[in-house]
Amino acid sequence: MIKLLVVGTLAYDSIETPFGKVKDVLGGSALHFTNSASFFTDVGIVATVGKDFEMSEIAFLKERNVDMAGIEIDEGKTFRWEGKYGYDLNQAVTLKTELNVIESFEPKVPEDYRDADFVFLANIDPVLQAYVIDQVKFPKAVVLDTMNFWIENKYNELLDVIRRVDILVINEAELREISKEHSLVKGAKKIMASGPTCVVVKRGEYGVFMMNREEIFLAPAYPLEDVFDPTGAGDTFAGGFMGYIANMGDTLPATLKQAIIMGSVMASFNVEDFSINRIKTLDYQEIRDRYSAFKRCIQFGDIEFK
Ligand code: AMP
Repeated sequence: MIKLLVVGTLAYDSIETPFGKVKDVLGGSALHFTNSASFFTDVGIVATVGKDFEMSEIAFLKERNVDMAGIEIDEGKTFRWEGKYGYDLNQAVTLKTELNVIESFEPKVPEDYRDADFVFLANIDPVLQAYVIDQVKFPKAVVLDTMNFWIENKYNELLDVIRRVDILVINEAELREISKEHSLVKGAKKIMASGPTCVVVKRGEYGVFMMNREEIFLAPAYPLEDVFDPTGAGDTFAGGFMGYIANMGDTLPATLKQAIIMGSVMASFNVEDFSINRIKTLDYQEIRDRYSAFKRCIQFGDIEFK
């Protein structure tokens, strides 16, 4: 039995940032997520790739207890995404999305993934996200991410699946687009009125805003000198967040806040190199050291009112 199930894309990305350009590098929401989450728990991936996908390039994940039995190899080409960033690295501009094998994909959750405790519906067609919820038994929490492509192309299907999840993890612009509210507080409340009990808003270099029925929590992003490529930062955040939750086994308010910090620590590594490269070679000591440095940035003594 696996603890954490993810459905999403495995992709070849072509990316341009002010600091360089790469073509057909490994990417996809499920891959960035798993690369991060697998430091904390065992993960099972449900995804599809085309015959052009080099499975050997992700074989290193097996050493981190990732189960790949749910990856289907279909006729056709792997999903491809082309994006570009200007000096404002918070804003990805999609140049091209080629759905390819995603278009006819029907995700089948392998029998021994169906009782996973935690489910992450990474960025993929909301119809496929719903189809995965139909197949899992009694997860402790189902968490969903999405992006503007699906908000614009499958808005009603997306609202339908959001109603069925526990936590929505989404970026700031997308929360505004879905909820049609400028205020994050109003937007999150609107989403929570439809079903989820918690909304986690990713704000790029400005950190994370979280709201649940009890409280609001804010975390900054770790201040890096150099950000090289932000692609996958959101999924890497979600991987640290969900990996930590699966490792703890609950979604209590204290766990959620710690999970946000762990997600932020993991995302800070992802942006230091293109593709999955930085996190592929990461080790636990580096995670611990970055966590300590992060904690020092946000700790302060109680203010005295004299
Ligand atoms: P993010 O964490 O938001 O930067 O996610 C980046 C990853 O999402 C890239 O590696 C892309 O391959 C993948 N991606 C881009 N567009 C889509 C889409 N419409 N559906 C699913 N995955 C996508």
